[in-house]
Amino acid sequence: MRTILFFFIIGFSVQTWAQKMPASSFIMVLGVAQDGGYPHTGCQKNCCKMAWKDEKLRKNVVSLALVDPKTKKWWLFEATPDIKLQLQDFRKRTNKAYPFLPEGIFITHAHIGHYIGLMEFGREVMSTNGLKVYILPKLKSFLEQNGPWSQLVSLKNISLVELKANNPVDVAENKITAFTVPHRDEFSETAGFKIETPTKKYLFIPDIDKWSKWDKNIIDEVKKVDIAMIDATFYGSTELGNRPIAEVPHPLVIETEELFGKEDHNIKNKIFLIHFNHTNPLLWDSTIQKQVLKNGFNIAKQGDVY
Ligand SMILES: [Zn+2]
Ligand SMILES: [Zn+2]
Ligand SMILES: [Zn+2]
Repeated sequence: MRTILFFFIIGFSVQTWAQKMPASSFIMVLGVAQDGGYPHTGCQKNCCKMAWKDEKLRKNVVSLALVDPKTKKWWLFEATPDIKLQLQDFRKRTNKAYPFLPEGIFITHAHIGHYIGLMEFGREVMSTNGLKVYILPKLKSFLEQNGPWSQLVSLKNISLVELKANNPVDVAENKITAFTVPHRDEFSETAGFKIETPTKKYLFIPDIDKWSKWDKNIIDEVKKVDIAMIDATFYGSTELGNRPIAEVPHPLVIETEELFGKEDHNIKNKIFLIHFNHTNPLLWDSTIQKQVLKNGFNIAKQGDVY
């Protein structure tokens, strides 16, 4: 009897858990940290101390899944250094309802947090067969012309699909549009993505130098979507200690808050801050987290479903 009761409870909880997943396409957050992850290599300061001690506080590098329950397919955004944990996490959170590998991977740019996870698809690890990787032209040439990525291309582990900026591609019943944003473009251009499902529109800009450098107005762009997951690398300007923050420009959270200060609550509430540097208190300071939430903004969390 006890055994039957046990399986009943387990079965029930799996079922109620599964019901929490939306019936039409949705976004799942698989990581929220800046390229270096959280904790950050070599950081012994207060920001990372707790996360070195307690694994539960660790955060994966920024990544999303677009999940289509109708076709039972999914697409990954960014191939991060944490991809092995993230693929496993996705499998667990979706109760093995989807193939282990995504149908394709969309990548914003050639900074390590966003593309080096591709290494897991080569001969040394998974040796995948023609896994689609969607990228803008400069990132495509970068991967084709530089090892070890060129080997993934020549062995056909991955199959590069060139995106044209501002031209949507269809994936099942969803539309994805890449656009360029100003960023430190040493090896590739930098993309942001607009993701349109039959029911919702999402904006994803994990890295941008400053809102004012972009030829689009971020307030207008946020108004056009339901959910905007945007660059919140640094909270304020004094986070990097001796290292000049101007070397790595990003819109500070306090600047984004000020920019949206006069907008209605429902506009601010579309914003989900993401891509947190280890120094950003939104990762580890509950007082500042509460303040940002009180100001009407959201903080993206690993496992969130939108
Ligand atoms: Zn980044
Ligand atoms: Zn730290
Ligand atoms: Zn970057």
